[in-house]
Amino acid sequence: MDINIDEIRADVRGWLEENWDPERPLIEWRNMLVDARWAAPDWPTAFHGRDLPPSAVIAINEEFEAVGAIGAAKSGVRNLAAATLLEHGNDAQKSQFLRGILTGEEAWCQLFSEPGSGSDLAGATTRADRKGNQWIINGQKVWNTSAHHAEWGLLVARTDWDQPKHKGLTYFIIDMRQPGVEVRQLRQMNGHASFNEVFFTDAVVLPEHMISEENNGWPVAVTTLAHERAGFNRFGGRDEAGASEGRIYDEFREEVAVANEPYIWYPQRAGRVDLIVKRAKETGAINDPVTRQQIARVLSLHQASQWYAERLKEDQKAGRARGPEGSITKVAATKVARQASDTHTAITGIDAMLTGPESPEDGIIAEILVSVPAVSIAGGTDEIQLNIISERLLDMPKEPRFDTGPFKDVKRN
Ligand SMILES: Cc1cc2nc3c(=O)[nH]c(=O)nc-3n(C[C@H](O)[C@H](O)[C@H](O)COP(=O)(O)OP(=O)(O)OC[C@H]3O[C@@H](n4cnc5c(N)ncnc54)[C@H](O)[C@@H]3O)c2cc1C
Repeated sequence: MDINIDEIRADVRGWLEENWDPERPLIEWRNMLVDARWAAPDWPTAFHGRDLPPSAVIAINEEFEAVGAIGAAKSGVRNLAAATLLEHGNDAQKSQFLRGILTGEEAWCQLFSEPGSGSDLAGATTRADRKGNQWIINGQKVWNTSAHHAEWGLLVARTDWDQPKHKGLTYFIIDMRQPGVEVRQLRQMNGHASFNEVFFTDAVVLPEHMISEENNGWPVAVTTLAHERAGFNRFGGRDEAGASEGRIYDEFREEVAVANEPYIWYPQRAGRVDLIVKRAKETGAINDPVTRQQIARVLSLHQASQWYAERLKEDQKAGRARGPEGSITKVAATKVARQASDTHTAITGIDAMLTGPESPEDGIIAEILVSVPAVSIAGGTDEIQLNIISERLLDMPKEPRFDTGPFKDVKRN
């Protein structure tokens, strides 16, 4: 497809001139964005998009930023839900869920990890049993970000215990606001309480909310994970509302305070590369040749990993499904975050441990130090990513397996 970026810019600028009004209610604005196909211009035309490549999306975002316009809702798991639905959902499911994902009216969570299966996700023991035309869910998930806010959950559950472990799983969407779902919040060492334990007692999933075929949920789970891993460099920490005045900004700040609250530390989790040069200039560390070398190393790695992620996006646009390459992005994100955290410590010194109003960057530097370890765990640990890279990209020998045969006979903890 031939793309004229200048024409697209003119188009979106004209539309914004006509329609952007900071006094408009946030949800009304987001629905207008969806109707005009500016909410997710890289999505397919059949579902709210324009099929545009990342270069055009960047240009569109710049036009939004130039007038201070708010974009589609972006926080966390909604992106994974959208990517999974776009790839595996049927038209009815896409019609039901995609608009609410973009407008921010419905929040999502990912119900994958369990107390006995995190890295070994395919060892899930939460069960889904068919009763009449419904599925009845019993079991426990854990570390589920945003589950306490979510309307909908992406659920992997076991539907056949006689099949080998990867074969007996089914992928569902579950309504989180029902009596059989109990959500308990957990608190982290950075003080936030982003994730939860989720208990299912005879919870119900409707037949139309089965995303995969029965017992074929594993490939769908792999899609969700591939998007999660590839998206790890995405959190830039941009606050679209800032101190701007107008009804829409007030409502956006409210949204950030509630729905996006589990993610407010995610920019710190990524290491805040954007603050490094600023801090080095403020503290004078920029004049230290050793620190300058350290800064150059982390900025180069960060830039290279951004380019790699862009390349993957372009590949995807060209029709290639998101695959194991996302694991490279994920490992790179861990390396960047760790190096950035070390660099912040070198720049700020012992004050990096201080929190509160008069501490460096109002406690942001300290929050980086205690949040960065999460990057190498969330979305699959570094060791799991390295296994995927070695087995699926480098064609190295597979790990020995002791879990073949019917899942009911596999030894578990
Ligand atoms: C910030 C954050 C957000 C999260 N959000 C969600 C969410 O929304 N939904 C959700 O379902 N989960 C979520 N998780 C959970 C996350 O997916 C799991 O923590 C992760 O997959 C690791 O599983 P585990 O904690 O059970 O560790 P384990 O699997 O018990 O791993 C323990 C250690 O053993 C290593 N190990 C395990 N297997 C192997 C192997 N085969 N080869 C080499 N080393 C191995 C691991 O690398 C790790 O170091 C989140 C986690 C974090 C930190």
